[in-house]
Amino acid sequence: MPSTLLERSAPAATPPRGAAPRRRTRVLALPEARWAAAAALLFLAALPLQLTGAPAWAWGPLYALAYAAGGWEPAWAGLKALRERTLDVDLLMVVAALGAAAVGQVTDGALLIVVFATSGALEALATARTADSVRGLLDLAPATASRLRDDGGEETVATADLVVGDTVLVRPGERIGADGRVLDGASEVDQATVTGEPLPVAKEAGDEVFAGTLNGTGALRVTVERDASDSVIARIVAMVEEASATKAPTQLFVEKVEQRYSLGMVAATLAVFAVPLALGAAVTGSLLRAMTFMIVASPCAVVLATMPPLLSAIANAGRHGVLVKSAVVMERLGQVDAVALDKTGTLTEGTPRVTDVRPLTRVAAGAAATGTAVAGTPATGTAAPGTTAAGTPGGPDEDRLLALAAGAEHPSEHPLARAVVDAARTRGLDLPAACDFTSAPGTGVAAVVDGRRVAVGAPARLLRGRTDAAAARALAAAADLEDGGRTAVVVEVDGVPAGVLGIADRLRPDAAATVASLTALTGSAPVLLTGDNARAAARLAAEAGIADVRAGLLPQEKAAAVREQERAGRRVLVLGDGVNDAPALAAAHTGVAMGRAGSDLALETADAVVVRDELATVPAVVALSRAARRLVVQNLVVASLFISGLVVWDLAGTLPLPLGVLGHEGSTVLVGLNGLRLLRESAWERARAEGRR
Ligand code: ADP
Ligand code: MG
Repeated sequence: MPSTLLERSAPAATPPRGAAPRRRTRVLALPEARWAAAAALLFLAALPLQLTGAPAWAWGPLYALAYAAGGWEPAWAGLKALRERTLDVDLLMVVAALGAAAVGQVTDGALLIVVFATSGALEALATARTADSVRGLLDLAPATASRLRDDGGEETVATADLVVGDTVLVRPGERIGADGRVLDGASEVDQATVTGEPLPVAKEAGDEVFAGTLNGTGALRVTVERDASDSVIARIVAMVEEASATKAPTQLFVEKVEQRYSLGMVAATLAVFAVPLALGAAVTGSLLRAMTFMIVASPCAVVLATMPPLLSAIANAGRHGVLVKSAVVMERLGQVDAVALDKTGTLTEGTPRVTDVRPLTRVAAGAAATGTAVAGTPATGTAAPGTTAAGTPGGPDEDRLLALAAGAEHPSEHPLARAVVDAARTRGLDLPAACDFTSAPGTGVAAVVDGRRVAVGAPARLLRGRTDAAAARALAAAADLEDGGRTAVVVEVDGVPAGVLGIADRLRPDAAATVASLTALTGSAPVLLTGDNARAAARLAAEAGIADVRAGLLPQEKAAAVREQERAGRRVLVLGDGVNDAPALAAAHTGVAMGRAGSDLALETADAVVVRDELATVPAVVALSRAARRLVVQNLVVASLFISGLVVWDLAGTLPLPLGVLGHEGSTVLVGLNGLRLLRESAWERARAEGRR
């Protein structure tokens, strides 16, 4: 590997390779929009000819083409639906237009087709923009990476084929292909896609980098630390794919109601036609009135009232790093009136560090000991097992304790586990391999390491009911650390408490502001639900401005606490990250998971995911949901006012067909556009501002 390649090189003159283009579906890229535009143009060409008294052969075919351009697609889809015994409102519109033409109202029918096609295109646009926003979040990881071979050569491989331990070269301006750690080189990396930080972050040897982030002007050699399928980005992709395969119940409900309503409407239309006819009215007049009835009574505006605002809100939230899994969830988010927060990884950054290592006994190396080689102090392995003298601080006992704990923690996904493993690595310790690993969420882990049974976990749980001297010493050491605001974990070797580790985590910078916002929004103060000890929890809660703290909870106890609130009539939003939060997330009215720190189980169980772990987006998305719900209500009111008003007008008086068409389609387009307002950046800003109050 020539070292010059790793030195800072000038930025590439060509646009950065692998930079994700900002893709936004253009209106005319949608077939629906093109057909609507064609219909409109044909209509606009025909109308002046007709009005200036040109012969019918001049404008007639233009109208016919307008009908075909705007109507063939819904007619085709409607006929297909009919074969499956469902009645499509779209088909009724086409029938109404043809009916209007049949009784000589060619212009009115064409107008209906044009406006109808336009509202269809608007709906398609809303859906496409939603998909864009989500895809924009996902289209981040590059397809290939440059892998360095052991012989110093380089090969281009698919990022999906990268495995832990591979070394990849990231050139200036390239997107990083895998989650990993910088081996050498220096550069600044734009991590906005994953962390939301607007400014590039300086990276050098030892720093963590994420798949999908954009390298700046330096070159980096990166050791892959997570398989492609495991990367932060990949987990989110999998989740969204799953979510989009399911249909929101609200939509199913609307569709079911629409079915019944449409059938009733057809029956009513027939009655509106047949009854006056039987009473001796003229055929043309009755037919016209019936056509007008069918048009104005169609539930197009009602159908369009609900989904566009919710979809637009989902798209907007997605753009700002909150993935809401369905329209139902978007609806429910705004209903919450209580909040329960997890501590580790949620309120705190989830990147805790080991601050204290306190051996209580001397732990001899096992038969298969890998030396905990720290310069100058090789592990001797000569001390008798079970020696009660406290270990030497900073010496081999500390290292041995940490190495054993890290060996046991290595397979765990818990933030505390990562802290222990990182601490061992920082000291240059070899991690002994573990087997028989088990983990008890909210309690700790156990494994056989170096032939010894090692357990690491919460003091209160691991040492429950034990009265022996070693346990008492461990509890005392833990209490001492907890008084200092640390999370203490006990390391047990072969059933004997061998030491205590103190771990400190930082509050997220926006934690206090978020707690205040959520309090204002929901009208009640959030509670903290944590498996950690009461002392550390209380200290952190005070910093974040939370008064109600429930500490020492097992996962099922967290869920029980949530259910208890729900029984009291509250709608609880649970915000969590870990496997231990999954039951509570499932029990919640709405569960929200932290995307970066979050475990797979939490991401799957949650209804929404805060992709970049920005707490402040949570109150914003609640406010956005409320805005969406307000728009839905507004839309429903507008839609039903128009429908009932026009129906009454048609039945009681004489509603001219063109006016009926304009009223009906006008209200439909109005309702559709109203929903799209939530796509705008200003809608998010308003929600954020509302969340901040
Ligand atoms: P929180 O609810 O704050 O996210 P958890 O429920 O995940 O915390 O953990 C509660 C306690 O259980 C921790 O404070 C720790 O003492 C212990 N614990 C859980 N998992 C582990 C682990 N992998 N290693 C060590 N201790 C653990
Ligand atoms: Mg947690």
